Amino acid sequence: MTDSNPEFEPPPTRIVLYPDPVLTSPASPVTAFDGELHALVERMIELMREAEGVGLAAPQVGVSRRIFIAEPEPGPESVPVVFINPELELGGVLEPFEEGCLSIPEVRVMVRRPNVVKIRAFDLDGHPFELEDDDFPARVWQHEFDHLEGVLITDRMSPRDRLVHRKRLKSMREDFEDIEDIGR
Ligand SMILES: [Zn+2]
Repeated sequence: MTDSNPEFEPPPTRIVLYPDPVLTSPASPVTAFDGELHALVERMIELMREAEGVGLAAPQVGVSRRIFIAEPEPGPESVPVVFINPELELGGVLEPFEEGCLSIPEVRVMVRRPNVVKIRAFDLDGHPFELEDDDFPARVWQHEFDHLEGVLITDRMSPRDRLVHRKRLKSMREDFEDIEDIGR
């Protein structure tokens, strides 16, 4: 699951967990807006919804590419927005907010982030678009964008949260080593 091969086949089967190295490696830009990309994103949407998440980045399914999806208010009518090769422009003031991550189950930490975000990205067909937000979506975009840079909430948590979650994170690291050993 540490493979960052540009080939998306076979399709991702699960969400990659901390501390898989694919989560801490910067992802590379998407260059082909083709059928494979569409299939990958479809699969990401399924995995995000199964996990009841509000966002998911490609590295979280083992694909080190600059793609994320966001669905800040999931519902029967909602459609996830797909962001490819996104760029952020941050503004406003820093606000603390509790965040979780599908790759780090059971860990929730306070993260301070700018509350106003302008995002420029490409859609699945390679068309550029721009959105701006000063609420929860702005938070989700920044969290997912971090994944494309190889940054996790564990990199942004306070010393207090670091202490609170020390055991849980240690046990996740040990589980990961066990899986790696079995794989060898
Ligand atoms: Zn996350």
